[in-house]
Amino acid sequence: NGLIVSFGEMLIDFVPTVSGVSLAEAPGFLKAPGGAPANVAIAVARLGGKAAFLGKLGDDEFGHMLAGILKENGVSADGVRFDKGARTALAFVTLRADGEREFMFYRNPSADMLLTPDELNLDLIKSAKVFHYGSISLIVEPCRSAHIKAMEVAKSAGALLSYDPNLRLPLWPSAEYAKEQIMSIWNKADVIKVSDVELEFLTGSNKIDDESAMSLWHDNLKLLLVTLGEKGCRYYTKQFRGSVDAYHVKAVDTTGAGDSFVGALLGKIVDDHAIIQDEAKLKEVLKYSCACGAITTTKKGAIPALPTHSEVLSVLNGPK
Ligand code: ATP
Repeated sequence: NGLIVSFGEMLIDFVPTVSGVSLAEAPGFLKAPGGAPANVAIAVARLGGKAAFLGKLGDDEFGHMLAGILKENGVSADGVRFDKGARTALAFVTLRADGEREFMFYRNPSADMLLTPDELNLDLIKSAKVFHYGSISLIVEPCRSAHIKAMEVAKSAGALLSYDPNLRLPLWPSAEYAKEQIMSIWNKADVIKVSDVELEFLTGSNKIDDESAMSLWHDNLKLLLVTLGEKGCRYYTKQFRGSVDAYHVKAVDTTGAGDSFVGALLGKIVDDHAIIQDEAKLKEVLKYSCACGAITTTKKGAIPALPTHSEVLSVLNGPK
């Protein structure tokens, strides 16, 4: 199995013990470890692949707890650094009764933002067959420079670059700056996955169709994916395009569905990049990835809900 290195943030979401309340009304909170790039690494490992997470945590109990979660799940923490001065990032998150998601971040600055280019484990990055990242690591220095350097080292060593922007607008100083920074590394990626919401944000169009998706195409791109929640996903390559339906499940918490989808996809293409050029094979892989995303919505939290390979097989072989 080829190694997938996932770069970026790992943090703890604090979610209310009861649903449908505002942050102020919540009687208490439960720890839900997350951070999209960390979720992707764990998703890969759960499914039987080889993964490493690269990023910075606070040298505190929470940071060491998170590193422990990576290791328990078989993810290499050889690229994890601990900051003596800054805390592990925290976010308080709630889905209010009116359906609005409310976030409150504790990042002033948090350890993940302080990773420097000198702290990168270059040997680990050079051994990656796939290098995956988001955009939260682009928000501030020095992490931004570390991100750019890691991408360049991975690319020169022959890795496939995978990008899921994972827009978190409240973390950016402005929407314009978010868009500019997210797009500043667009042309480097071989594989890009956006959600319907991100497609609208990045194109400025309120249409989610082939035309708006293709406006995000760039010359060196190999595969563009648009995920549509319970409507499945659409795929675009130079040669063909199409869609894959979602699996019908009773969703209780969609957190991590996109990360599960990406982890499943990367785990399949890491050892066979040619899948991207073969529509029949790619569709099979995307069915598998959609099943992973669907399963992840059936349990609370991201990491506890990431499936194993045998769980996915039982969904794929069961009634659709
Ligand atoms: P998130 O940011 O919440 O992790 P995302 O917005 O990046 O997710 P989604 O489109 O929500 O990504 O989900 C990714 C994939 O997971 C979808 O393409 C779909 O196959 C599956 N999925 C997500 N939500 C559901 C659902 N309610 N029912 C069935 N499948 C789902």
